Amino acid sequence: MLVTLFNTCVRNVHAWAGQDCLLCGEESGRELLCAACIAELPALPESCPRCALPSPAAAVCGSCLNHPPHFDATLALWRYEFPCDRLVQALKYRARLALAGFFARNLASRPLPEVDLIVPMPLHPKRLAERGFNQALEIARGFARHLGRPIEPRGVLRVKDTPPQTELPYEERAKNVRGAFLCKLDLSGVSVAVLDDVMTTGATLNELARALKRAGATRVENFVIARTVLR
Ligand SMILES: [Zn+2]
Ligand SMILES: [Zn+2]
Repeated sequence: MLVTLFNTCVRNVHAWAGQDCLLCGEESGRELLCAACIAELPALPESCPRCALPSPAAAVCGSCLNHPPHFDATLALWRYEFPCDRLVQALKYRARLALAGFFARNLASRPLPEVDLIVPMPLHPKRLAERGFNQALEIARGFARHLGRPIEPRGVLRVKDTPPQTELPYEERAKNVRGAFLCKLDLSGVSVAVLDDVMTTGATLNELARALKRAGATRVENFVIARTVLR
């Protein structure tokens, strides 16, 4: 009887202090997802440190050796698959902004980079007006707090409104984003962390890195929540 009462009390305290896991509905304490669901998010296999695609022994992959991208490194948290894709979409299209903090905490749980500045992937003003917020900036805010580094939300502009990359065949994507960014900053000697939600082919991140390097950045590292991995 006493034990039952105690358990009921504990459950009530939890119900008051905690919340339900976004994915399974179980109690998840202060976190958006319960520990079991977090552990089951689709991990990336050993990956190329430069582009985050699967690569045996985490060696730099053949593609990066043959055609080095403008960025120097990429850290991706998970594969862009169920249920991680649903979480990213909930942030982006249903404005579940608390997910930005969850993503930032998970990025910050990895070895922290030596960077000077954080640049969120800019949205074109038209898309920003439609959505009302830039999901990359929302994630970057939390990441910047953990890192203790400044964030630069305005110095890099998206000047070309490109159709969503997913609507284009792979070979069209690089052409599609060419000249998409304008960097108004002098980044001489600066090491930059770029924040984005999803990395698909990497064409957009590559074009942004190109603009940042042209502005003087010595190093560009991508930090993304999810990476599309074709099998
Ligand atoms: Zn759960
Ligand atoms: Zn690679």
